[in-house]
Amino acid sequence: MQEQVAKKARKEHYPAPYALIDLFEKHGDDWQAMIRGEIDAFVPLMGSDTASNLRRVFFLSEGLKKQGAKGVKFARVHVIGAGVMGGDIAAWCALRGMAVTLQDLDMDRIKPALDRGKKLFRKRLKKKFEVDAAVARLEADPEGKGVSRADVIIEAVVENLEIKRKIFAGLEGKLKRGAILATNTSSIELERIAEGLNDPARLIGLHFFNPVAQLPLVEIIRSSFNSDEEIGKGAAFALAIGKSPVVVKSAPGFLVNRVLMPYMLGAVQRVEAGENKELLDAAAVAFGMPMGPIELMDTVGLDVGVSVATELGHEVPDGSKFAKLVAAKKLGRKSGEGFYKWADGKAQKGPVPDHKNLAELGRELVKPLVDMSEVVVSEGVVANADLADIGVIMGTGFAPFLGGPLQARKDGKA
Ligand code: NAD
Repeated sequence: MQEQVAKKARKEHYPAPYALIDLFEKHGDDWQAMIRGEIDAFVPLMGSDTASNLRRVFFLSEGLKKQGAKGVKFARVHVIGAGVMGGDIAAWCALRGMAVTLQDLDMDRIKPALDRGKKLFRKRLKKKFEVDAAVARLEADPEGKGVSRADVIIEAVVENLEIKRKIFAGLEGKLKRGAILATNTSSIELERIAEGLNDPARLIGLHFFNPVAQLPLVEIIRSSFNSDEEIGKGAAFALAIGKSPVVVKSAPGFLVNRVLMPYMLGAVQRVEAGENKELLDAAAVAFGMPMGPIELMDTVGLDVGVSVATELGHEVPDGSKFAKLVAAKKLGRKSGEGFYKWADGKAQKGPVPDHKNLAELGRELVKPLVDMSEVVVSEGVVANADLADIGVIMGTGFAPFLGGPLQARKDGKA
């Protein structure tokens, strides 16, 4: 049992499941002794920093559910762009009960997204009739007939300002009254996309994370044109599809990419300077991250990494290992090789060299992320430190037992 638990949680971070196993080991044959033992074990656990931080995370995430406009109903969603993101967003909405139309340039580009949707439905829904109903709710719509009936329209086409502008210009006259108009852009300022619209206040950002089915966060991007009404509706929609909304100002990188990039690039620079990538990744995990920064860069995709880095003003020098990997189309997990070689969805790692204090090294690696979380709050990209903490936990998996990057800093732990 301890081995199984260790795969999910480290004892120094999450002591409770280990204490439970201990209880069985010591008193498993005597239930009265077990009850007494439980009292002894429970009290220190309840008073621990981990417990207090996890309670904080729980209440912060419950707080997110209180956002959003009341009484708005969403039944139909139209998604434009059936690529990695659009396809998965459409499938997710159908899984959560929406009737979804999915548009792309032609049927051939929509078909793979429908197939991925079917896989998701089979995995998540128990009964065949539920799967069939979800399949029926997700409809290919190459001509965009669904636009005029949709309560929510999400654009997720290629990251190109002109293409996005053209799409929105063509949409505006066809919308149902009160429908949400949203883009999933990762890096283009909303104001620039909205500029050409008759009513630029209508466009909000709904920024989903990849993989859509696994990451709970949706950043609700607020442009300088938006009023509380559009943002409230956006948050209500995210909640209606079972996601957690955090409202973020339209600023490069928004919240999550902004704090992740200096952390990942800092680690990449250390690898460029000759440090061992397995060691760095293991150190970040020992600190409490779900995955190390180099493995994360491979997972996100090195091409995506370079484009977000450049967008945020970080340099990726031409002769660097990073630039060379991208030039050689070694883009990480999706291409089978990046900083690591990948097989069966797993990074093929070498041994981790000895180190006197892995967690301390991890803390050093995570420092740029925590620093940037402070900057993001001081710039008003998110409304307060609590939202930065829960947003970064949900968007990056940052050590929940530390209560978020800013709480961890307050406690002298990051
Ligand atoms: P993608 O290249 O996988 O898919 C884009 C799709 O848009 C393609 O299927 C393409 O055929 C289609 N398309 C292009 N022009 C079109 C048009 N005029 N009408 C209809 N469809 C058109 O890209 P992606 O990774 O899914 O990214 C889509 C958007 O989501 C981008 O704005 C990106 O910044 C954003 N985003 C991406 C990620 C990610 O991890 N990939 C994460 C968050 C946000």
